Amino acid sequence: MPDRTDGVGTAVAAAAAAHAKEVTELSLRIHAHPELGNQEHRAVAWCREVLERHGFAVEGVPGVETAFVATRRGRGPGPTIGFLAEYDALPGVDHGCGHNLIAGSAVGAGVFLAEAMAGLPGTIKVYGCPAEELGTGKPMMLAAGAFAGLDAALTYHAWSGTALMEGCTGVRLFEFRFTGRPAHAAANQHEGASALDGVLLTYTNLNALRQFVRDGVRIHGIVTDGGQAVNIIPERAAATIGVRAAERAELARVAARVVDCARAAALASHTTLEVVEGVTLDPVRYNAALGELVARHLAALGEPPVRWRSPASTDFGNVSQAVPSLLFSVATWPEGVEFHTREAAAHAATPQAMRAMLTAAQAMALAAAELLTDPDALRRVRDDFARPA
Ligand SMILES: [Zn+2]
Repeated sequence: MPDRTDGVGTAVAAAAAAHAKEVTELSLRIHAHPELGNQEHRAVAWCREVLERHGFAVEGVPGVETAFVATRRGRGPGPTIGFLAEYDALPGVDHGCGHNLIAGSAVGAGVFLAEAMAGLPGTIKVYGCPAEELGTGKPMMLAAGAFAGLDAALTYHAWSGTALMEGCTGVRLFEFRFTGRPAHAAANQHEGASALDGVLLTYTNLNALRQFVRDGVRIHGIVTDGGQAVNIIPERAAATIGVRAAERAELARVAARVVDCARAAALASHTTLEVVEGVTLDPVRYNAALGELVARHLAALGEPPVRWRSPASTDFGNVSQAVPSLLFSVATWPEGVEFHTREAAAHAATPQAMRAMLTAAQAMALAAAELLTDPDALRRVRDDFARPA
């Protein structure tokens, strides 16, 4: 198996050395010009520029303005392997999630494998995925069919350790809008029905539900409208509630019970309820065969990974339910650096972060080369994906 990719290994190492500066500059440029989700026009232009320079054909994704798919075909038919880039920043803390590094790692993986593709079967694709922090980029790209025909998806994320992401929670968001009957709060309160009571009873019901969920489930929320004036029985009130679970079935079960909590509250408060379902992010589905493959290349690059489960959520989860996928990290910053902070933003542009990004890019390029050339490796990935989740 290694003999088939040894030549490619040398080519990838040479390309990584030759193009490290170009990829680092791309990542630092995105870092220095943070753009919020769905507004990443400059990041997209800069990524496309690098990929086109290395022979990729780049197309947009219908209906997703700041997404792209860059394709580089090999010498004949074969599998298609994708590297997923992100590039959106956060309000107030800029690149406090290090997505500039995700952009660099995915573009880097493509660039490092580009020349070798002349001698390899199949296709590699670099996907530009917008608005991860809004949870909408990859679900919209999936809906547009952007990932159709993909055999495996690889992506890196910044973290303090080198790790394979074995799991990650899925999340569903609900907005509960209650409508009551307004009345003077002191003169004819008996004719009113309080929408605020609908919200408060929902919260009470949710607290009763907490005992009856599996470990790892999270239910959290905020009141977004608590009424109009203190001397009026509230006609309108609303809350947004998030539910998270590591398993898809448990997420569906608890989400249904959360909606029941709001329905019961509406019944008790004589209000009407409108349920508006927001973002749905699936849990990340771990592909053990991809994990073992990438782990071997990370170890050879001096970064043996551990396994990790995250209580957070990502829209990569949706991709992982549709395509065999792997999300991993390479030690990017010191332990104790928290995501979505100014400190993390500062650490997303250090020499250590750039090294981690380039290591991730090489590991993805080498893993992809193996999947393109070794049918057994790809079969193991497919077999793992075919097992019931
Ligand atoms: Zn984030």
